[in-house]
Amino acid sequence: MTPVSAEARSRALRQGPAKGRCVLHWMSRDQRVLDNPSLELAVAKGRELGLPVLSCFCLSPQFLGATIRQYGFMLRGLEEVRSSLEGRGIGFQLLTGSPERELPGLISDVEAALLVTDFDPLRLKLTWKEAVLKAARIPAYEVDAHNIVPCWQASPKREYSAATFRPKLRRLLPSFLSRPNPLPSPSIPWRDGITGDIQAARRALKVDRGVEEVSWARPGERAALTALRDFVARRLPGYAEARNDPLRDGQSGLSPYLHFGQLSPQRAAWEVRSSSAPQEDKEAFLEELIVRRELSDNFCLHAPDYDTPGCFPEWAKASLDQHRFDRREHAYAEAELEAGRTHDPLWNAAQREMVLRGKMHGYLRMYWAKKTLEWCSGPEEAMRIAVRLNDRYELDGRDPNGYTGIAWSIGGVHDRAWPSRPIFGKVRYMSLSGARSKFDVDAYVRRAEAL
Ligand SMILES: Cc1cc2nc3c(=O)[nH]c(=O)nc-3n(C[C@H](O)[C@H](O)[C@H](O)COP(=O)(O)OP(=O)(O)OC[C@H]3O[C@@H](n4cnc5c(N)ncnc54)[C@H](O)[C@@H]3O)c2cc1C
Repeated sequence: MTPVSAEARSRALRQGPAKGRCVLHWMSRDQRVLDNPSLELAVAKGRELGLPVLSCFCLSPQFLGATIRQYGFMLRGLEEVRSSLEGRGIGFQLLTGSPERELPGLISDVEAALLVTDFDPLRLKLTWKEAVLKAARIPAYEVDAHNIVPCWQASPKREYSAATFRPKLRRLLPSFLSRPNPLPSPSIPWRDGITGDIQAARRALKVDRGVEEVSWARPGERAALTALRDFVARRLPGYAEARNDPLRDGQSGLSPYLHFGQLSPQRAAWEVRSSSAPQEDKEAFLEELIVRRELSDNFCLHAPDYDTPGCFPEWAKASLDQHRFDRREHAYAEAELEAGRTHDPLWNAAQREMVLRGKMHGYLRMYWAKKTLEWCSGPEEAMRIAVRLNDRYELDGRDPNGYTGIAWSIGGVHDRAWPSRPIFGKVRYMSLSGARSKFDVDAYVRRAEAL
């Protein structure tokens, strides 16, 4: 199939005559140079208008409870972006502060003719974008560089479940899943230098440094491609079976790269689809990478209360309410949960893995979040604690996948009603004995204790 243009993945946020001295690319969610349709569109617009391209990143000094673990990973990735852009005749500028204030200032300073940015369904990002567009009245385009099918084209409404979303995606995928395009060269190179010292910005950050950076994932788009290719060659064969066993290295480990936009999902899907791995493994992986991941963006875009019980389906809200005052056999304060001091060795081990490694296994994430409902005073408290811990410790935290996964676990989002039981009502339950039937829990606990 012929490559899909960046234009096809874009929508105009504001139209009008483009008058000025450059095209400004606001890199936010998708922090890479290659396989990045939003940068590609900025360069294409620059070529059309005969203007150079400046890409900027605005470093917000606080971001939804992120710690040095997440900031460090992101800034190291941005170092690579900066030098890669420099070699391609595209400018780079690091801004520090609130995008609502910084972007309009930059747009005016560099006399930008047009703005191109990426897409993000999270509330804070939508607020930033709205404020920037209100303050700077230039034409602007948004490109969904994070979903294979642009989120607004996949579905115009909140989808009920993967079963309702999957056929819509399947219909559109043939029009969007192509080999990623090479980045064209700008017709006029950027000559005004590169501004913003990433190392200095990193040192000046006043974020929580108590949560250490991780060593198992090297940041940056080159490392992301290496991780993808290593996964495709060595672990994609067998993924369908191995991914659910926390003792096997069965998952791809790509979520931090995908979260920070250091890896293009289109690239990942393309290389997986073109590989010689068994069909069953390819399908299982693409279901997660495309259907589940893109469903999370659909959910967060259409349910702005995605991190509170207000987003639960009505059947779950009613049923959880009925069981609100059920007796809890075990109840823990937030600090006990954070310290991994519960009666449940599997839960403590999963919590320990997340705190120390910055990545809990996917199967355990469901179990972990469901237990917060079982041991907290109600869904409100469970949701708040699960979101806070997830966002604080997971390297891939603050992602639509996280908010959706937590809402699935605690509030039945995208799931169906199950036979009613205490505390959970009709929300699906998971037990320690169920986990024991799936994998060697004791071996997992021993491994976590040795971390
Ligand atoms: C309570 C809970 C919290 C979660 N928190 C996060 C989070 O903070 N950040 C995050 O990226 N994911 C989160 N997930 C989703 C999923 O568990 C992780 O994406 C996955 O474990 C990441 O590891 P991997 O890249 O090795 O996954 P793989 O199994 O290799 O999957 C490949 C990719 O597919 C996507 N994917 C896989 N499973 C899911 C899923 N259930 N929903 C949506 N997309 C999926 C991810 O982008 C993932 O990187 C959460 C799930 C639950 C139930």
